Amino acid sequence: MLSIIVPVLNEHESLPQLLAEIVRSGERHGIGYEVIFVDDGSRDGSWDVIRQLAEQNEKVSGIRLRRNFGKAAALTAGMRAAKGDLVLMMDADLQDDPAEISNFLNKLNEGFDVVNGWKQRRLDPWHKVFPSRVFNWMISRLTGLKLHDHNCGLKLFRAEVAREITIYGELHRFIPVLAHAKGFRIAEIAVHHRERQFGRSKYGMRRFLRGFLDLLTVKFLTGFGQSPQHMLGAIGLMFLGVGFLGLGYLAVLWLLMNLPPLWGGVPLIAVSPIGPRPLLAYSIAATLLGGQSLSLGLLAELIVSNTVREQATFSISERASRHEE
Ligand code: UDP
Ligand code: MG
Repeated sequence: MLSIIVPVLNEHESLPQLLAEIVRSGERHGIGYEVIFVDDGSRDGSWDVIRQLAEQNEKVSGIRLRRNFGKAAALTAGMRAAKGDLVLMMDADLQDDPAEISNFLNKLNEGFDVVNGWKQRRLDPWHKVFPSRVFNWMISRLTGLKLHDHNCGLKLFRAEVAREITIYGELHRFIPVLAHAKGFRIAEIAVHHRERQFGRSKYGMRRFLRGFLDLLTVKFLTGFGQSPQHMLGAIGLMFLGVGFLGLGYLAVLWLLMNLPPLWGGVPLIAVSPIGPRPLLAYSIAATLLGGQSLSLGLLAELIVSNTVREQATFSISERASRHEE
């Protein structure tokens, strides 16, 4: 069975038509499904519409969050409630086309765990489309998962994926990346995208700054989340090395100039005083930074060893044994 999860923030005009389209698509392709609308703190009467739809159609259920927690939280609430072994998520604003569902299922059956949509001809204003291109290119470069449209609202994946990744804040943009980091197989297909008919977009320009910061977080979590010292420690050692080199060089100069006179000889070299040199300040700063970074890494390891490692160090795909489990 397929669980369709729809996050809803102030989309009351769209919901009846969206459901009608889902029903039509489900009937045409004979798909068994449930629809879960998650109301993420709407203030426009979306919840009343959802309640009505749930009363009229037994395949529909609703979840209402107490306030606006963000799309990732809404999706997580939906995934926890989902009963199907496949999960499809789709935006509530009618920009995603429910007629695509069967294409997604076909692609998944080719042997993938996640099928991500790609709004090839995107019907949004340029000031959303252009930054989004840059963003997708950046994610693809930094994470190694090359997709055209990481943040497409329409995606299908197996329930294991939903169980194994944790999204919060605005990390819904990184579902494919997080799944990829766990070894799931990802595919993408082009989808038909439509213009927003009702209401307005819930995301402004701020999304790009936050998206970039989240990219750094995700890169760190997927790369070094289990062993932060591998990153912080490496940075620390690098700075320590640079600092020691500089200090060592200055120390040698000082000794060559000052030691022989102490023993009654003449200086081996004549150099300007060490104290006011910029290299001294830089070397000290690098040494301190290196020490800081190393100890920060140890602190991070201490935290990780008490928390995350227990849950999420690996992901099992199959088991084999002579005994039935
Ligand atoms: N949404 C949500 N909570 C939020 C913001 C958005 O549930 O805090 C939902 C919104 O109702 C829509 C989907 O997430 O169904 C995508 O939002 P939107 O269409 O505004 O994004 P855009 O298409 O402009 O990127
Ligand atoms: Mg939209």
